[in-house]
Amino acid sequence: MDILVIGAGVGGLAVARALLAAGHRVRVYEQAPARRTGGKALLVWSNGNAVLHDLGVSLDGAGKRIDRIDALTAGGRLRTSMDIAHAAGRFGFDTKAVPRRLLLERLAEGLPGDLIRYGMTCRSVSQDGDRVSVTFDDGSTVTGDLLVGADGHHSVVRRRLWGDGAVRPATFGTWQGLSPIGIDLTGTHRHLVISGKEGACGLMPAGDGLLQWWFDVRWSPADPRPAAPLAELRRRFGRWASPVPEVLAAATEDDLEFFGHHWNRVPRVWGEGRVTLVGDAAHTMPPTLGQGANQTLEDAWVLARELAKGGDPAARLRAYEQARYPHVSLVSRLAKRNPANWRMPPVLARLVPETAQTAMLARFSNRLTAPGA
Ligand SMILES: Cc1cc2nc3c(=O)[nH]c(=O)nc-3n(C[C@H](O)[C@H](O)[C@H](O)COP(=O)(O)OP(=O)(O)OC[C@H]3O[C@@H](n4cnc5c(N)ncnc54)[C@H](O)[C@@H]3O)c2cc1C
Repeated sequence: MDILVIGAGVGGLAVARALLAAGHRVRVYEQAPARRTGGKALLVWSNGNAVLHDLGVSLDGAGKRIDRIDALTAGGRLRTSMDIAHAAGRFGFDTKAVPRRLLLERLAEGLPGDLIRYGMTCRSVSQDGDRVSVTFDDGSTVTGDLLVGADGHHSVVRRRLWGDGAVRPATFGTWQGLSPIGIDLTGTHRHLVISGKEGACGLMPAGDGLLQWWFDVRWSPADPRPAAPLAELRRRFGRWASPVPEVLAAATEDDLEFFGHHWNRVPRVWGEGRVTLVGDAAHTMPPTLGQGANQTLEDAWVLARELAKGGDPAARLRAYEQARYPHVSLVSRLAKRNPANWRMPPVLARLVPETAQTAMLARFSNRLTAPGA
């Protein structure tokens, strides 16, 4: 089939790889003038890494393996600990913190040079019988057998399907940076999640001497942007236990990016006719579980498997959405509850030993993941 993909982010590139491998003709249209080289790091969990492996994408030499996630109080006391290496052993794939730039680079490796047309902003979508057409900002139009909207959280394709207003602000926002911060943690495989009444902080080694750090604070779109965000973060989090003050001392304003969290209720059917969605276009969620890109990779994998079954393409797209719904709606609802800021009561944390917490993580991960992934 002749398949059009809008967006060349994690979802668009993964879909393109999966569909090309299945023998389809694929054309990808991306609004940016070139492949994104910025962005901070993403946590690629065992489920995302398994899909990458199946798509022929290796993360060898990219980012940093994460073996343990420790949750601490603002005062530095250990609340809970999860042995990610144990869970990774069980699933057969590591969990890694990888700069987004490297993930996109690896996903694009080996794809035909003319597959992605950059500088093409999708403006509208229409269907006529078995054909789907896309019109771009420059007035040009392309037509294909199927359309996959992989155009992220502000998706034009989703707006065409669901109308306006589906994606709403959630209650937190993230200030984050990825920078060379020379503290011991940067050289380890340990990811810290620290929470207190001021908000939450995450510290994650991302390879090549880089540390991914973020601060989650309550946020509403009406809030004015602080004049000096780093000074505000230092004021708010600067008295937390080491290594938070060291990270804030080494950070610079130039490192900082802000993302307000957004969320949409995932519908059971998210496409129509020969149009479907993958990734944030279908399920924008707060990054609190670090699963957005991982679920996006699973979308691509399941979509290709459904289309490989043959038959009516529109029915296959609905079967893909139906297969993804239970997993992605669960992840999305949990991410919205903002568990990064949820604290296991200390008594419970002492009662639930690390092995049990790790087993809970493994069971939970199974529920998030498409069967067979
Ligand atoms: C602060 C933060 C931290 C995160 N951390 C993690 C993490 O640790 N682990 C994880 O799994 N996920 C994480 N996520 C979520 C993750 O970034 C997304 O889920 C993932 O990028 C979704 O991929 P996508 O391809 O759907 O969208 P995107 O990556 O946003 O790609 C969409 C692409 O479509 C293009 N586009 C948009 N509109 C148009 C148009 N009209 N025409 C043509 N092209 C268009 C865009 O330019 C872009 O290239 C995080 C998100 C945030 C905000």
